[in-house]
Amino acid sequence: MLVTLAAMLVVTMDALQLTAAPGPAKVAPLEIVLVEAAPATSEMVLQWKREGFKAVAVVLDEQTGKSAYGQLARRISDAGLDLYCWIEVARNPKLAASHPRWMAALGMHEDWQKNFPNFPEPGIGEVAKAFPWVPIGYREAFEAHLARIEQLLQRAPPGWCGLLLNDLQAGPSSCGCGNLQCRWAIDYSVRPTATKLDGDDVAARFVAEVRKRAGDKAVIPVWTTECAEVDLPPDKHQEMPRQRLRGSWQRRRARER
Ligand SMILES: [Zn+2]
Repeated sequence: MLVTLAAMLVVTMDALQLTAAPGPAKVAPLEIVLVEAAPATSEMVLQWKREGFKAVAVVLDEQTGKSAYGQLARRISDAGLDLYCWIEVARNPKLAASHPRWMAALGMHEDWQKNFPNFPEPGIGEVAKAFPWVPIGYREAFEAHLARIEQLLQRAPPGWCGLLLNDLQAGPSSCGCGNLQCRWAIDYSVRPTATKLDGDDVAARFVAEVRKRAGDKAVIPVWTTECAEVDLPPDKHQEMPRQRLRGSWQRRRARER
């Protein structure tokens, strides 16, 4: 693979908290290219600039050496772009393999089995988990992820101006509904296998803890919205009835009407 151009993301200036201006001011969104460090050449960086990107987010991970990060940082600053770091939080094969009890459950609904018809149904006393998702919703994982982020930030290239945190929610299809974007339920009516944290502000608390470790840099959580029409951008509302993306619960309700 030449370059892992995993995604493009759009962060509004409001999200970056660079200004305290109230109201829905019309500010052009900041478009950032998301890449892994090693394969990104100077020519690629210049091409992104020509395409209108103002910044590059580089994935911080354990596999990439400091020199690769340093080289990319130089290419980015030479091109006059800003540099962000991106940390993948919940999706972590190493942590999932060493702590399977911290993994995200697939909830009580059975729709997910349609995507995995050959997977044996969980028996009595068993819980299906989504490898390699280790959500921050458990105390053990919350602490482990914070410690990992602390370590990773030591590898951050010079001159970075913000940190994007991906996957602070539950695993995909988290209530078992089969919708990969369903990320809001943790252990939905199934038995937790680790110490579940109380409250609906776990992710906010996590971000606050990361901010303490990020000095004066911006820390930006990346959310996966679910499937209700109100969650979708305005131009995607019309042809997307809720039921198409909702899981069992919504379909059952529709049947009961
Ligand atoms: Zn669901």
